[in-house]
Amino acid sequence: MRRRDAIRSLAVLPVAGVAAGTVLPLGSLLASPATPPTPKRNLFKELGIRTFINAAGTYTFMSGCLMHEEVVDAIRSTAHEFAMIDEVQDKVGEKIAAMCHAEAATVTAGCWSALVLGTAGVLTGTDLKKVAKLPDLEGMKSEVIVQKAHNQGYVHAVTNTGVKIIEIETSAELEKAVNQNTAMMWFLNYAGPNGKIPDTEWVALGKKHNIPTMIDMAADATPVENMWKFNDMGFDLVCVSGGKGIRGPQSAGILMGKKDLIAAARLNSPPRGGNIGRGMKVNKEEILGMYVALEKFINLDHSKQWKIWEDRIAIMESAARKINGVTTTVSVPPVANRTPTLNIAWDINRVKVTKEEFQERLRKGEPSIEVMGGKDNSITITSWNLEPGQEKMVAKRLKEEFGKASG
Ligand SMILES: *Cc1c(COP(=O)(O)O)cnc(C)c1O
Repeated sequence: MRRRDAIRSLAVLPVAGVAAGTVLPLGSLLASPATPPTPKRNLFKELGIRTFINAAGTYTFMSGCLMHEEVVDAIRSTAHEFAMIDEVQDKVGEKIAAMCHAEAATVTAGCWSALVLGTAGVLTGTDLKKVAKLPDLEGMKSEVIVQKAHNQGYVHAVTNTGVKIIEIETSAELEKAVNQNTAMMWFLNYAGPNGKIPDTEWVALGKKHNIPTMIDMAADATPVENMWKFNDMGFDLVCVSGGKGIRGPQSAGILMGKKDLIAAARLNSPPRGGNIGRGMKVNKEEILGMYVALEKFINLDHSKQWKIWEDRIAIMESAARKINGVTTTVSVPPVANRTPTLNIAWDINRVKVTKEEFQERLRKGEPSIEVMGGKDNSITITSWNLEPGQEKMVAKRLKEEFGKASG
């Protein structure tokens, strides 16, 4: 609507409101019922991008999670004004720290960047000369101790800072590995059950040797107690993803822990430049969105939420198990992605389809659905990324495709 038209529409406003002294902000005039709604662009359609029902899980390559509506509102409502990034981080950090029993916290560009920046802070402290030097470790400690079972993929975030990983298996080996170059001890939560040293002992060993400990609990938002459990346990730094179970912005995460280490990590982070973290920028909207997401997540009725997830799983399970040759199990992973998880397996002699073909048929169907491939002839399904009602569509499609393959 052009301005002239907006002003003309004033004429049709009820006079009573004005007489009663109601002040109508210009925004409300522009949004008056006379304004034809602007058609919303559908960028997915415009660009031909496939959207789908995510019955797989909070996978990064599938865009993680859908943000809670409150988070989208936080992003939209903070997009129209400027604020100093440090002030946004200070205020949000205080709130997050309080919610999670940490001394301090900062929003990072995902859990991965929390790992990099936290490690950087351990190495440099608040020495700006060291901050400028990293990943050249001259004058700094250079080794991080990691259990063999934990030494995989995500450890690359730690080695980004230039440190060397010292792999150990037992606490006796750890005692031997500790020396004046040991900067940190890193723990990967989902690898916990496969390692010889459990989290509590890891923390105790760190304290005994006065070495900071860090935990990567990226995909361990559930159960919600995990949000403070590792701070309470005594880890010096805790790293978590914002865009998985918490349903915050996918490119946000949280680094929390000891005050001095968070302050040091922030010296290695944007908005400051000339440091290792300059490329890990988070905009003010997502910093605030992360805060709102965490608050919403912590205040959820988690037992009700769990029941919803279970009920959805039951609907999909009962549709699949009606087919001869199909067997189903529901379990909850011991660590990481703790949510009811449905495994559907089939006898390939009776249900004649490979898991890849089956996934492709769901993907190409209407609506498009993503599930994960499991072991042998099986798929796995979770329900925490489903929108209400989508479990019925998934159930219907499972029944159709299993029916066809066994018919
Ligand atoms: C997802 C994940 C990360 C990376 O987290 P982002 O939030 O995507 O940066 C790191 N570690 C583990 C164990 C993860 O599952």
